Amino acid sequence: MYAEVVVDILNSEVDKIFDYKISTPCKIGTRVLVPFGNRKLEGYVLNIKDTTAMNEDKVKEVISIDDEPIILPEMLKLIDFMTENYNLRKMDAIRLFVPSGLRQNKVKTKLTRYALIKDKNFDINSFKSTAKNQKELYLYLLEHSREKISELNKKFTSSAVSKLEKLNLIKLEVEKEKTHIKDYGVINKNVVLTQTQQRIVNTITQKPDNYLLFGVTGSGKTEVYMNIIKNMLSINKTSIMLVPEISLTPQVLKNFKAKFGNDIALLHSGLSVRERFDEWFRIYNGEAKVVVGARSAIFAPIKNLGVIVIDEEHDGSYYSESNPRYSTIEVAQFRAKYNKCALVLGSATPDVESFYKAQNGEYKLLEMPERVNKAPMPKFDIVDMLGELKEGNNSIFSRKLVAELCDCIKNDKQAMIYINRRGYQSNVMCRSCGYSVKCEHCDVPLVYHKEDNMLKCHYCDSRYHILSNCPNCGSTDLRYGAIGTQKVVEELNRLFPRTKVFRMDNDNTRTKDAHNSILSQFASTPGSILVGTQMIAKGHDFPLVTLVGIIDADMAIHRADFRATERAFQLITQVSGRAGRGEFEGKVVLQTYMPKNYTYRCAVNYDYQNFFKHELNIRKVTKFPPFVKILRVLISGDTEEEVIKSTKTYFEKIKQIQNNNSSSFVYLNAMKCPVKRIQNKFRYEILMRIVQKDYTKVRNLIYNIVKQTKTKNCLVFVEVNPQNLS
Ligand code: ADP
Ligand code: ZN
Ligand code: ZN
Repeated sequence: MYAEVVVDILNSEVDKIFDYKISTPCKIGTRVLVPFGNRKLEGYVLNIKDTTAMNEDKVKEVISIDDEPIILPEMLKLIDFMTENYNLRKMDAIRLFVPSGLRQNKVKTKLTRYALIKDKNFDINSFKSTAKNQKELYLYLLEHSREKISELNKKFTSSAVSKLEKLNLIKLEVEKEKTHIKDYGVINKNVVLTQTQQRIVNTITQKPDNYLLFGVTGSGKTEVYMNIIKNMLSINKTSIMLVPEISLTPQVLKNFKAKFGNDIALLHSGLSVRERFDEWFRIYNGEAKVVVGARSAIFAPIKNLGVIVIDEEHDGSYYSESNPRYSTIEVAQFRAKYNKCALVLGSATPDVESFYKAQNGEYKLLEMPERVNKAPMPKFDIVDMLGELKEGNNSIFSRKLVAELCDCIKNDKQAMIYINRRGYQSNVMCRSCGYSVKCEHCDVPLVYHKEDNMLKCHYCDSRYHILSNCPNCGSTDLRYGAIGTQKVVEELNRLFPRTKVFRMDNDNTRTKDAHNSILSQFASTPGSILVGTQMIAKGHDFPLVTLVGIIDADMAIHRADFRATERAFQLITQVSGRAGRGEFEGKVVLQTYMPKNYTYRCAVNYDYQNFFKHELNIRKVTKFPPFVKILRVLISGDTEEEVIKSTKTYFEKIKQIQNNNSSSFVYLNAMKCPVKRIQNKFRYEILMRIVQKDYTKVRNLIYNIVKQTKTKNCLVFVEVNPQNLS
């Protein structure tokens, strides 16, 4: 007998399936240890067969086999789906399904199944006379009370074991060290659903389908999700709920823990390898029936799914942008279809492409247009910063924002200030010669960090001493550009010396609990201000926050990306949604140099529908998604010459495809990436826009080219529908 095994070789181009001899049959998806060259490596059995096309004498024997498969049949299908759709190597896909603690036995555990005696009072004379094995097995277990199933299979046959299980005389369990579950504390909130919430819960519970839940911020979507999950539990079905990593706050975890206790498994980045493995295992052996986690929780080995929820479905983090690249929503759709279960995509600002699907009937649209208890949406003030400047205010805060902050603090309420740049000030530029100070390893301007008195690169984290002279012409007339979080905090401290100002950005949330600690300090300090990047925009529910200030919204709109306005709209809506969630009304002050901009006008009126119409129209005229699909071939390498050469090679071949399928292509071009160099790697791209109906065909042709073309010293990836075009 032979097993087809895919071998787990790190960072290797090898993605071949090898044949190994195997003496006892095992299930597909089982992990094995195999000899590979002069090493022993882990691999996964993808097929069992009686013959091999290889030279019999050359085929080696597997060293050991797990008792139980790690990869479920559903996952094997999903791996095929992913390798086909995202051009992944099999092993890269498989790694997503196996917790890193289990691979290479980092956490020492073997999955072993045991049988235990369940009914000790069965009359052994009731066994049929032909069922000798069953009777002996039963007697054996009466005596030993528990034993490894692999042993029992050998002694009494596997059919005897499964027969006794069916008769309820024994029970099977997977054994592993008992795990301790972190205590998140408990919030107990007794909520009676509103009519709208109840109607939506009923609809989704009763009819599995793909739903888009479009509910304004504070409309009570989380409560809807929890009730659907509760209903699923009551009919013995399991659930997966995904949220953006950043929303996995202790508050959210507590809420879920309070509602679902030990039925829940939590997967988030704060877990150690061991903890993550333990949670994975509780899902694998059926102990946990509700999985809550960030993107990768979609790969949880959970059976019998009733619902998959994806909260904040518009969030960019649902796309994996480095190898292995995939779309979490597409993976969720696969699982929902396989399990015939419901998929719920929730958002206050659905992705334009998702809303388009809802219009076409691909998703069923459910709406929650009002906040719980009809609390009003926060009111916007748009402040024209050019006007401020003309009237002599050149500070980063408008007079309106300062006045509102005063009012807010005086009344012991809280404010959040959003600015999408960390550090102090960016873009150090020489006024004499125009030289802009860039990272040595990346093609991006450096950012001044006053806290460390350093210049930092936000792409590779390199640090540089601050400059007193221009490195190019020696001039001391250096100018610092756009402001960041640190400078905003400094200004606030100057304006409000007695007010506590917290900051939350990528610089001060790198340690495990930093994020939580800032949020809980803020939560317990009335009359304080929280300054932060988009980290503060999502999921937080602070009842005392009555004011949100948006310092520089224009930055988001000015990005050279067809999704820039959409992202800006989403961000403004999300961050303003933090205000007025409790019993006090909320206000938003939005500072801009283009107060008449269409995106702002829609955002301040909470007019998603009109924004959507306008945006969709632009996409239609300019031929962008959802009317076409974008494909990007990304080529990177150590020397620009080699990268250009490879890019040319690919481009010529893709040109051929275009010649043969000219009606499929809306656009094809090759160029430098907007960020030309990151961490010493030069980056070039071939961008394509393909008409929807020919997309799969063209994509497969491109995949083939990339598979077949070997270029020296360059890494090549194909990105489908890339969310980040930098
Ligand atoms: P969303 O996720 O839509 O922004 P949340 O689910 O966070 O909104 O709900 C906002 C607030 O309203 C939360 O504090 C939540 O506990 C509360 N809430 C939700 N539903 C109800 C309800 N039916 N009755 C009372 N409070 C509710
Ligand atoms: Zn850098
Ligand atoms: Zn200079």
